[in-house]
Amino acid sequence: MNLLIFCFAGKEYGGSMTDTIRFEDLNLDDRILRAVTEMGFEAPSPIQAQAIPVQTEGRDMIGQAQTGTGKTAAFAIPLLQKVDPRDKNIQAIILCPTRELAIQVADEIRKLAKFMHGVKVTPVYGGQEISRQIRSLKDGCQIVVGTPGRVMDHMRRRTIRCDHVHTAILDEADEMLDMGFLEDMETILSQLPEERQTLMFSATMPDQIRRIAETFQKDPVTVRVVKKELTVPEVVQYYYEVRRDTKVEVMCRLLDMYSPKLSMAFCNTKRQVDELVGELQGRGYFAEGLHGDLKQMQRDRVMNSFRTGATEILVATDVAARGIDVGNVEAVFNYDIPQDDEYYVHRIGRTARAGNKGIAFSFVVGREVYKLRDIQRYCRTKIIPQAIPSLNDITEIKAEKIMDQVAEQISGSDLSRMVNLIEKKMLERDFTSMDVAAALLKMAMGEENEDISESGVPRWLDDLDRYGRGGYGREGRGGRGYSRDGGRGDRGWDERRGRGGSDAHRDRSRREGADGMVRLFINIGKDQNIRPGDILGAIAGESGISGKLVGSIDMYDGYTFVDVPEENADQVMKAMKNARIKGKNVRMEVAH
Ligand code: AMP
Repeated sequence: MNLLIFCFAGKEYGGSMTDTIRFEDLNLDDRILRAVTEMGFEAPSPIQAQAIPVQTEGRDMIGQAQTGTGKTAAFAIPLLQKVDPRDKNIQAIILCPTRELAIQVADEIRKLAKFMHGVKVTPVYGGQEISRQIRSLKDGCQIVVGTPGRVMDHMRRRTIRCDHVHTAILDEADEMLDMGFLEDMETILSQLPEERQTLMFSATMPDQIRRIAETFQKDPVTVRVVKKELTVPEVVQYYYEVRRDTKVEVMCRLLDMYSPKLSMAFCNTKRQVDELVGELQGRGYFAEGLHGDLKQMQRDRVMNSFRTGATEILVATDVAARGIDVGNVEAVFNYDIPQDDEYYVHRIGRTARAGNKGIAFSFVVGREVYKLRDIQRYCRTKIIPQAIPSLNDITEIKAEKIMDQVAEQISGSDLSRMVNLIEKKMLERDFTSMDVAAALLKMAMGEENEDISESGVPRWLDDLDRYGRGGYGREGRGGRGYSRDGGRGDRGWDERRGRGGSDAHRDRSRREGADGMVRLFINIGKDQNIRPGDILGAIAGESGISGKLVGSIDMYDGYTFVDVPEENADQVMKAMKNARIKGKNVRMEVAH
């Protein structure tokens, strides 16, 4: 049930699962509601449900939330409610620790502002030519999202003027502190108009951050999600580091490998539910979706079908899955990592009911691995990293299952008529018994490897098969460092990354590649219809380095990060100088 605590006297405002709050309850501008619907958000995340009303009231606020909780929209929605699109002056400054985050935040605000004509967001960060940013700022923009150093630079040049700024937002304030931006933050805040709203988001609250709040905020309200003590069900929990584009493929491999009779898959948005259902159905799985847009009758139909086993995979949002109680769900897929730690516990609790065995699979993309770490910490549970099963693994498992059926036939029935028939046909057609057995096995197993590339799986999935998992994968499935039964699993993720998993590391790893690697930034991404395979192909083709040397390729809407070995970085950047990928000019530089 809902637990919302309002303690205005104590300046503390906390809450737990925000079951009943909908976006429609938050008095939002219709245009924002439309955007939120289009983005597929079903309901506000807990931090949004709590933070949006406080900000809309005009209060200063400290939001204790980390990435993955929906914190960007938590401050962007009330900000957009306040911004006047006709006024072309800068009205809000958002400070972020890294260039990557600044770009991401600007992208998210643009999406939320899709139906608000005239709102312009400009990201400014070091490493990009300042003249380009100046041009963009001069065109008139209301929201600037930037790293502190570059924002100060623009303020000095007076290309950012602060007289009309009514909102200042510090995003990931503790990270900015870790990166040595304390003075810059203070200088920027002290130059903003006295009459303003100041919001601060920080996962942790070290003393220096508290001091900033005391100095630069007026009577701030603290908003955080109060966590309940939860009992984590006894479920085997595995996670897989994947790339966004391989999630469906990995899910299918796991479905084939474990053959759960009934499974539930959880997505964070309605849109993702529909997409996944389409993908699974297209690949021949009996999947149906459940989310808030469904009418009661459709819901009932889907649920009946799932209860009777006609639907084997129920794909749902957290909100839609609330209250569902189906006894024999054998596997839960966290297709998206949940936005709230509590959701994780609720999700995996759908399996292993009434003493049954259950298994939970979570897919993490890039830095979501840190969200998973938080979940493990909060839930005091162990989620074991696993290698993605290879196509060979799947083929072997399928063959094994068929062989079990064959064994049953051999021991349980009289096959003499069939033996005679095969002998006759072998003579007529000049087949060996091995030919016949292999062909029948292939037919019984259905489509194999070739089918995967034909079915629209990205070309570079082959790389995934060659090199192992996405993100950090050089090791290769089942090969170095992994064993089929989970291998390095028990050592936990911190050790795997070779560091203590500190916040400082989290921060560095965004900008730096893995050990011995340099992280490069490329100014094209998914929006340009580029796939990781295109980037890999261009780098290998242009620079002559082996594709095997290229590390993690993290794609975002408008840009991509790619890791290359330190010793090859210059060679790659030089070779890519005049290169085009899918006909588009690209710019590549070291990520800052
Ligand atoms: P953040 O914590 O801001 O980094 O957000 C993590 C991801 O959650 C982003 O991809 C957001 O677009 C997405 N997101 C934000 N709010 C919601 C919501 N209410 N429902 C589903 N997804 C959301």
